[in-house]
Amino acid sequence: MERLRVPLVAILGFMSVIAASLSLPSNALCESSDHYAAARRRMVLYQLKARDITSPKVLEVLGTVKRHLFVGPEFASQAYADHPLPIGEGQTISQPYIVALMTQTLDVKPGEKVLEIGTGCGYQAAVLSHFTDHVRSIEIRKDLAESASRRLKALGYENVGVKHGDGYFGWPEYAPFDAIMVTAAANHVSPFLLDQLKMGGRLLIPLGSATYHQTLTRITKTPKGNEVEHLLGVVFVPMVGKILEE
Ligand code: SAH
Repeated sequence: MERLRVPLVAILGFMSVIAASLSLPSNALCESSDHYAAARRRMVLYQLKARDITSPKVLEVLGTVKRHLFVGPEFASQAYADHPLPIGEGQTISQPYIVALMTQTLDVKPGEKVLEIGTGCGYQAAVLSHFTDHVRSIEIRKDLAESASRRLKALGYENVGVKHGDGYFGWPEYAPFDAIMVTAAANHVSPFLLDQLKMGGRLLIPLGSATYHQTLTRITKTPKGNEVEHLLGVVFVPMVGKILEE
């Protein structure tokens, strides 16, 4: 055993020298050694399939998107764990199961136009971009909007447009949308977002008390009015901005 340990340390040292000289993030090496890929597979199996995520496409996408590259290096080792993680400025990225469930529930088809409110680190937007080429996302915190935009570009998610602004007003220049996903807690649905939804379009939102818990709610716009379905109890960080004045 003792004889094995020396070469292993030497190899790891050598690898980090290569990483440093190529200026790769340290977690890139772990990815190449399949560490994160294995964690993703376990996540899909034990957190998603074992619950009620049945969409093969959602399972495939959650098994593909490198969640550890959307969180700070200090949280990368927990990126595939069954809980939310901090992403800075007091905000959080939802646990993988909630991202999967929301994606499965929104059921985005190729070619559809999707709007996300609350870009955060950009992970949910990246997931959505595997379903359609037309994803737009709005983030009210400037630093988060800028870093998510940079991150998405660097990771090759060219089909995601990020805007800094208050998602309460939606994105009128790009409307109407087939689907809207709000990823911050709201005590009501913005009338602007409802207006920007196509007939037959779906809006998914954690609705309820912004400080306690909410009910994940799906609203479908129909000629007879809005169809409302209450799906699941959830806890999201609060939506801020104009909504607080209403
Ligand atoms: N979907 C994100 C996580 C969302 S956390 C991800 O995958 O990382 C909720 C985000 O909503 C936070 O980043 C918060 O700043 C943002 N937010 C809160 N109120 C908002 C508003 N009115 N418009 C746009 N973004 C808002």
